[in-house]
Amino acid sequence: GLKDFDDSVSGRVRVAVRLRPQNAEEMVADADFADCVELQPEFKRLKLRKNNWDSDTYEFDEVLTESASQKRVYEVVAKPVVESVLDGYNGTVMAYGQTGTGKTFTLGRLGDEDTSARGIMVRAMEDILANISWDSDSVMISYLQLYMETIQDLLNPANDNIAIVEDPRTGDVSVPGATLVDIRTHQDFMELLRLGEAHRVAANTKLNTESSRSHAILMVHIKRSVTDMESEMSNEHDHSVHMSRNSKPPIIRKGKLVVVDLAGSERVHKSGSEGHTLEEAKSINLSLSALGKCINALAENSPHVPVRDSKLTRLLKDSFGGTARTSLIVTVGPSPRHRAETSSTILFGQRAM
Ligand code: ADP
Ligand code: MG
Repeated sequence: GLKDFDDSVSGRVRVAVRLRPQNAEEMVADADFADCVELQPEFKRLKLRKNNWDSDTYEFDEVLTESASQKRVYEVVAKPVVESVLDGYNGTVMAYGQTGTGKTFTLGRLGDEDTSARGIMVRAMEDILANISWDSDSVMISYLQLYMETIQDLLNPANDNIAIVEDPRTGDVSVPGATLVDIRTHQDFMELLRLGEAHRVAANTKLNTESSRSHAILMVHIKRSVTDMESEMSNEHDHSVHMSRNSKPPIIRKGKLVVVDLAGSERVHKSGSEGHTLEEAKSINLSLSALGKCINALAENSPHVPVRDSKLTRLLKDSFGGTARTSLIVTVGPSPRHRAETSSTILFGQRAM
């Protein structure tokens, strides 16, 4: 399980599917109908029911059932990415799916009272903080919202139109206009997530929109200073050579982890309805379809990954493909009433395979 998911095949995106349990409303409304999704986690397969006698079967890198714990989801989907970020690489974890299927539950749950409920953002930070040495290393975060191809700072609403800057020499992407906060403790991080969420609600009220129509993007910048000795110690047991290496300058390892709670995928299909504008639907469509194309290009090992097509993919440019490790979790619900949406979510995930 975990090992297979961890083995990187070219630069492609690793894809897990997570099924949310039936909710109270569905227990009543769908009582007389079979669930449209059936999982076979031992075969990493998902069956999507077409009718009473027929279903389509899809394979994923990992299949997470409705009883999968938050801890297991973190270990399977995010931990390998976090570990590689600690080693100085960039990495991305993102969730794609229809509104109400568990993207925010999976990524953003704080779990203040019940630590077992903690989502990927909080668990990633716990892992990162446990591996940092405070005299030499640093952890900084930015928290952004991308709405209608505009980037807003969730840590300071005054920054409401942030530019993406790309270093022409290194190809590194940065958002210098965004607040960057030093994280020292777990409490620091929880407070900033809460602040970001409050700003998100306020910004969306002002714009008269819903958070499901925008992408929330957490960026974690890690800078570690590793001495030559330390870095070689791990695969060497000759202790007699320590002395001669003491004078060597430390190696700086920089890694960036990006966690993306994507806009609800249903917006791609429903345009102009339900009170949201055509322009809004188009911009969500633009970034999600651009993301799909990039994921597809990586899967096919194509030399051209079309990152320029949207702000979302421009932001992620240096955090997927190449040496970066990327995990996508697609979230689905069991209701047969959402079969079409569930099918399109599954197909999005399959583009990466
Ligand atoms: P999304 O962010 O995709 O719109 P949410 O994360 O807000 O969806 O989830 C919608 C509802 O379903 C929430 O009430 C959430 O607590 C619940 N939920 C989602 N996933 C799970 C899960 N795996 N187990 C239990 N409840 C879940
Ligand atoms: Mg959500």
